[in-house]
Amino acid sequence: MKSIKEEINLENKKILLRLDLNVPLLGDKITDTTRIDKILPTLNFLISQNAKIIIISHVGRPKGKVVNDLSLRPICKDLEMKLSQNIKLLSKDIKEIVSNDLFQNDDERIIMLENIRFYPEEEKNNQSFAKKLSTLGDIYVNDAFSCSHRAHASIHEITNFLPSFSGLQLDLEINALKKITSEIKKPITCIIGGSKVSTKINIIKNLIPRFDNIIIVGGMANNIIKYMGNNIGKSLQEENSDLIIKEIFSLSETENCKLIYPQDIVVGKDLNGKPQIKELNDISSDEMILDIGPKTINMISNIIDESNTILWNGPAGYFENPSFANGSIKIAKKIIENNKSNKIFSVAGGGDTVSLLNNLNAINDFNFISTAGGAFLEYLEGKELPGIKALN
Ligand code: ADP
Ligand code: MG
Repeated sequence: MKSIKEEINLENKKILLRLDLNVPLLGDKITDTTRIDKILPTLNFLISQNAKIIIISHVGRPKGKVVNDLSLRPICKDLEMKLSQNIKLLSKDIKEIVSNDLFQNDDERIIMLENIRFYPEEEKNNQSFAKKLSTLGDIYVNDAFSCSHRAHASIHEITNFLPSFSGLQLDLEINALKKITSEIKKPITCIIGGSKVSTKINIIKNLIPRFDNIIIVGGMANNIIKYMGNNIGKSLQEENSDLIIKEIFSLSETENCKLIYPQDIVVGKDLNGKPQIKELNDISSDEMILDIGPKTINMISNIIDESNTILWNGPAGYFENPSFANGSIKIAKKIIENNKSNKIFSVAGGGDTVSLLNNLNAINDFNFISTAGGAFLEYLEGKELPGIKALN
């Protein structure tokens, strides 16, 4: 893997720069700018080298269609302000962009293409789409570590058509994770929560042989609660996951990895509903699980006390509503407490997890913060990520 830092002549080169500017949005307001802030050194480096920059990113899950609410416009505005420089948001269909659309005058130095996931070809890793994209630039740079577990056109296939490099933030994250995983101290506890059940549930199986405890919380735990024979009402859930859960349980026994999942929960009638603590067998059909309960928090605290390393991805509940943020806050506070007394080494990752920790002003109380969630977990699996492999 070659870093863009080592490339000497970038003067007036057109750099196709894949970033992950997928920040949490509330309407057109950015609620957490961590991912934008972390990428500023890369942009400033390219600007200082007098390169021309074409930013590629996605935000949200438009699933291959143009969704006006998922425009990169607010992100473009925020970035313009932070760089004190104009950025042209080019909304034209990528498949119709010609070189005349780009860098029309000399002081136009940064262009941002509209949400790359508006195009169904992106997630299909489509070859001709990647080829078309590649004709817009001279050099490709991947500085989106958090997307590098995806074999998507702007991450993977594009590297077949252009000289390809890693970006500064990607270098930083890979080096930090390499160091952490090679020096890791047992007992190791991994906390997995959040809502991307379909991507994360398959990862758990591969993490079991590597870790001593796996704590499953958030939307991730709902299917387990259901598997145990409970009604989970309207809770977020994944179809057809019984087989994988069965495998997870049997593997945890043979591999001696303790699996911890909620023993009590907090429900609401909807996302804005009133919180109510409940036993697992007491959930009604019109309720949804939105946080972990006090017994579960206690259990998790004890496991954290027995651990030397904590790796965390995914909130324990629907923390955007303060009524359901208690579990996530208590976990964060416990980790911070033990971190301050040097009892543990702690790493957290994931867009929403980092946003939660930012809300608590706790970013500096962890040993390392990764911007990546899914990619972070897949890295811990020991897998070579498709986007990284493509750079090698
Ligand atoms: P990350 O971005 O940290 O990798 P995810 O994107 O997988 O994490 O999940 C974060 C989201 O999961 C948050 O929006 C949070 O509200 C949601 N979430 C967590 N627990 C639940 C739950 N029980 N029901 C619904 N949503 C949940
Ligand atoms: Mg997320």
